[in-house]
Amino acid sequence: MAEAPAMTVRFWGVRGSIACPSPAYIAFGGNTSCVEVRVGGRILILDAGTGVRALGKLLQREGSREADILFSHTHWDHVNGFPFFTPAFDPDHAFRVFAGHLADQGGIREAIAGHMHEPMFPVPLDVMKARLTFTDFRAGETLDLGPGVRARTAPLNHPNGATAYRIEHAGRSVCYVTDTEHVPGRPDENVLGLIAGADVVIYDSTYTDAELPAKVGWGHSTWQEGVRLVRRAGAKRLVVFHHDPDHEDDDMTAIERELAGESDDAVVAREGLRLEL
Ligand SMILES: [Zn+2]
Ligand SMILES: [Zn+2]
Repeated sequence: MAEAPAMTVRFWGVRGSIACPSPAYIAFGGNTSCVEVRVGGRILILDAGTGVRALGKLLQREGSREADILFSHTHWDHVNGFPFFTPAFDPDHAFRVFAGHLADQGGIREAIAGHMHEPMFPVPLDVMKARLTFTDFRAGETLDLGPGVRARTAPLNHPNGATAYRIEHAGRSVCYVTDTEHVPGRPDENVLGLIAGADVVIYDSTYTDAELPAKVGWGHSTWQEGVRLVRRAGAKRLVVFHHDPDHEDDDMTAIERELAGESDDAVVAREGLRLEL
């Protein structure tokens, strides 16, 4: 019998910046950042972009009542699904919410409450009746999420800050590294340290190297830098993630083809992609 995987990773939203539902995005998907990791009997949710809405429906269907939501940061494309995460309105559920970039700026609870506030949104955070606990830490600290499950973290180079996660369990590791900008020719030591030897590295690949010069200061990286970092850090598998909404399916297919020439293991994330490790 095949051994059960130590971790499963499922992609519910792979897009950056803004959701883009239209026929030009069917193959790769138009929902914004949301990745589910099942590990050690726990469910971890990396960001609550628009992709988290469908994940919430699944959790309710299967009767899962607890999860941890780990925010990379609180830009719209990473939080906009949260008000539509229906299990959070159910008193039978419990969610722990974590963020690493707001310890000195009012904290994650205030940021989410501000996001769900009139006149921008009609339903305030208080209407969510699940047991919600909010924890602010400083990117760089390690989170103990349960027996044998920990998340190492690192600060990223992004306007208003962002946090990268490395989730570890039973000798396996998956890294979530978005959103971040690199300086060409100078690999980010924070990222290299976090992803060293990791099994899977999900990386901010908003742009191509050719597009980057026109986007300096926008806070994002390229799939080619992902290839270079994974190689340098001795990590195993790159997942190209946080696709530019200006990259339609044809553009993503071209990137996928080029990526295949660089690495046998690397993969371009699409909605519904599931990895076992
Ligand atoms: Zn983003
Ligand atoms: Zn951002």
